Amino acid sequence: MKQVSFFLAGLCGALLLSCSPTPSGSLFNGKDASRWQASGSQNVSDGVWTLSGGATALLKKGDYKNFSLSLELQTTPGGKGAVWFHTDRGLDKGYRVAVNNDRSDPVWWRMSGSLISVRNLAKSFIKENTWYKMEIRVEGHSIKVGINGQPVVDYIEPAKPYRVGANKNALLSDGIFAISSTGKGAIRIRSIQVKALPELEPEQLSAQLSKALNEQTDKIIRLHQEDFPVLDYHVHLKGGLSKEVAAAQSRRLGINYAIAPNCGIGFPIQTDQDIKNFLDTMRTQPFILPMQAEGREWTKTFSPEVRGQFDYIFTDAMTFTDDHGRRTRLWIAKETWIDNEEKYMDMILDRILKVLKEPADVYVNPCYLPPQMQDRYDHFWTEARQDRFIKALKESGKALEINELYQIPSLAILRKAKAAGVKFTFGSNNVTPNVSDLSYSLRMKDSLQLKPSDMYKPKIKI
Ligand SMILES: [Zn+2]
Repeated sequence: MKQVSFFLAGLCGALLLSCSPTPSGSLFNGKDASRWQASGSQNVSDGVWTLSGGATALLKKGDYKNFSLSLELQTTPGGKGAVWFHTDRGLDKGYRVAVNNDRSDPVWWRMSGSLISVRNLAKSFIKENTWYKMEIRVEGHSIKVGINGQPVVDYIEPAKPYRVGANKNALLSDGIFAISSTGKGAIRIRSIQVKALPELEPEQLSAQLSKALNEQTDKIIRLHQEDFPVLDYHVHLKGGLSKEVAAAQSRRLGINYAIAPNCGIGFPIQTDQDIKNFLDTMRTQPFILPMQAEGREWTKTFSPEVRGQFDYIFTDAMTFTDDHGRRTRLWIAKETWIDNEEKYMDMILDRILKVLKEPADVYVNPCYLPPQMQDRYDHFWTEARQDRFIKALKESGKALEINELYQIPSLAILRKAKAAGVKFTFGSNNVTPNVSDLSYSLRMKDSLQLKPSDMYKPKIKI
């Protein structure tokens, strides 16, 4: 039996493209795009197939189920679109993988490699006018996407996927590939290779399903389906959390991570050179890279040029010098000398207003009170104090974090911020490897009815 199947495999190998309905090999080799039925503005020249405007290309023959598809491509400025799989000639079904390297896109959370509306990616590694490789691999219930060899999507479609509206047919089945261009610029392709992969055994399929998330209860898939940016803007590699484990967890849960080092006196990063070293090791990782600026001296510790290489800067007002000249860290009881709580509250607000004048982009751990006062949060954060804070926040142009660690600020403060037109971020501020599930942020998002345009857009550098 083994010999027979070996013989058949050899025969198919010899007659590769005519023997199988799902041939492996080249689907575009730089010469002609004759395997594709293309419409709209497209041409092949100098080894490059260019699709622009609303061009669409459908693979003429083939029925692919398990496969590995590799493309070498680039986008010209404003070029974007998608690579479809398991679709049909009407593009009525199947998944789309995003092609988009346009940093000015208002939909900034759906960059190249995104499994559209299922695992959207906020980080783009790729600049426009730059060749890159994208691999899409489907086996059983598993969909993986890699960019230049870096895994960016690792999704297992569960037995009962959650899909709504226009995404209702974004499901695994089988079908053809398609490429659609939807941007102002062009998608340029110099190679497309496909390898058909064998069916998985029943045990392998059930092992995959046992690892899938339950999308009937998972909140994150709902955000992706409604095209809301899914980004934890405040994650730390703390408590032994490595960047590899963080990346794998981010892919599994579908939450994009912004990984921030703490920068300032007494923290791991204390000089410009430390920042450069950190960024050198992290640039190719699938994380957005913000700076957490610590203490009130950070603007002097780090040069504007070097700190400007982060994707954004955030800071809090938990560290300051009190009215008696003592360095205060509000979360440490022996560094908070409280004689009169109302006066202490006035001082906290005063320090917050000063911090809002610093050149950061986001104010985090916002409106934090020391543990001794936290049980009366709403008492101390009077309407008048809230109004002074919101006015200064709005004037500062800073975004406001909805913080998971302390579950602050209160809904009352957030409502005023929203009414003032302030942008928001969601932030774990994890102190252990357990990065949050964003449950407080998502509760506040629902209460405030936040829209994607209410969220802060990072200034991706690379
Ligand atoms: Zn932090």
